[in-house]
Amino acid sequence: MTDTVLVARIKHETNTFSSLSTGREAFESTSLFFDEEIVPEFRGTNTDLGGFLRVAAEEEWDVVPTVAANATPGGVVTADALDAFVERLCSGIEEHDPDAVLLGLHGAMVSERDRDGDGYILERVRESAGEDVPVMATLDLHANVSERMVARADGLFGYDTYPHVDIGDTGETAARAMAATLNGELDPTIVVERAPLLPPLPVLQTADEPMASLLDAAGDAESDLTPDVSVFGGFAYADVPEAGFSVLGVTDASVADETRAACAAIAADDDERRREFDRTYTGVADAVEEAGEWGGGDGPLLLADIADNPGGGSAEDGTVLLNALLEAGVEGVAVAAIYDPAAVDAAIEAGVGESVAVELGGHIEDNGDPIPVDAYVRSISDGTYRNQGPMSTGLQVSFERTAVLEVDGIDVIVGSHRQQPYDPEVFRSQGITPERQRVLVLKSTVHYRAAFEPIAGAVREVSAPGLCSPDLSSFSYEHVQRPKYPLDGE
Ligand SMILES: [Zn+2]
Repeated sequence: MTDTVLVARIKHETNTFSSLSTGREAFESTSLFFDEEIVPEFRGTNTDLGGFLRVAAEEEWDVVPTVAANATPGGVVTADALDAFVERLCSGIEEHDPDAVLLGLHGAMVSERDRDGDGYILERVRESAGEDVPVMATLDLHANVSERMVARADGLFGYDTYPHVDIGDTGETAARAMAATLNGELDPTIVVERAPLLPPLPVLQTADEPMASLLDAAGDAESDLTPDVSVFGGFAYADVPEAGFSVLGVTDASVADETRAACAAIAADDDERRREFDRTYTGVADAVEEAGEWGGGDGPLLLADIADNPGGGSAEDGTVLLNALLEAGVEGVAVAAIYDPAAVDAAIEAGVGESVAVELGGHIEDNGDPIPVDAYVRSISDGTYRNQGPMSTGLQVSFERTAVLEVDGIDVIVGSHRQQPYDPEVFRSQGITPERQRVLVLKSTVHYRAAFEPIAGAVREVSAPGLCSPDLSSFSYEHVQRPKYPLDGE
């Protein structure tokens, strides 16, 4: 008998320190599809839905796509936006009465409707689907997993990589566990163990310790009866009680005790482990000095402006690093990107090949002042490209209306939509060859590494101001359960 599996994707990583609220238009300008639009858009992509669809084809499921909504990380999701997506999803469940529900969630959504956005979605799905329909979801490695999420789902599956190059594989893992459940081979339950850690983003990259060893141990704990063990670093920029580190297993009920013990061992917290999460960064002055001297023989010097990452909810209009490079007279630099729709409009008005005077960046958060520049308008475009690198391969992303402004030997991609530059197509689509630049500046914390490390001569993690700063003491937390390391010290 053909199983009917309803699929949906409602994703947002919410930075509660952001002043930009996330309404429906933020989803529309990032990725929003309904019903029959969904399969052609996501089939063959390295995404959660792409993974679901691969397994669905093998299992010959009758797939019911409902909603696929994702917005660039930013401030709290409006009630209107979340309500609209959840109504669409739940009315699909009520109409089609599916045998199973597979969801692509993030796990760190905060909404006006409910501070535990993902717990709310799972609760509404459970109410619509009933207790007997299995409900499983993929989550980002940066999920802040709540008890409510665990209670309402039959399986929660996290990415095992940061940069997230295994999103499609995670979708496949979840869908295979769902197939095993539907075939009666798995009686799934979730176990979770927590540690009092709130790691900032850079220390969670999975090529480095301690995450590399923790994920190895998670992989060792997986088996036919335990299809997934995930290590969630949490998202430190969502000020919610459940923010922080957890280890979660999806396991057959018969071996739940063993899986829980394995998760507890991975989550075990001691002083030595805590210090593995410590890390040092390059100051702006040192980065600019090195950029001025960089010969470029082995490839560009890559300066990651790690705190101003729109992929973690930052404004992407921080000017501290750019301003320091301009003041030092460093040339041969390409910057991706500065979010400044007004500057783009002025450039379009002036036209390609003309000069335009703008106050560039620095308009949104406390991350540097606007820079008054007389810029040369090198190009104007729709800012759209499809990822070719290892992360979210095949997915189309966009800066929307975009201008490349040249200021004193620095090419700045200026966009009208916040988008994390993690794929070299960001430059190539604008006629800039990244390999030929002396210096690249990327507004990205970690994701750039997957595609840019191979072409960079050296990488520096530069600590300028921004809403993804690794210095958590610069944020005023009200809701996170305390104490947490490193927020509260040893
Ligand atoms: Zn993430």
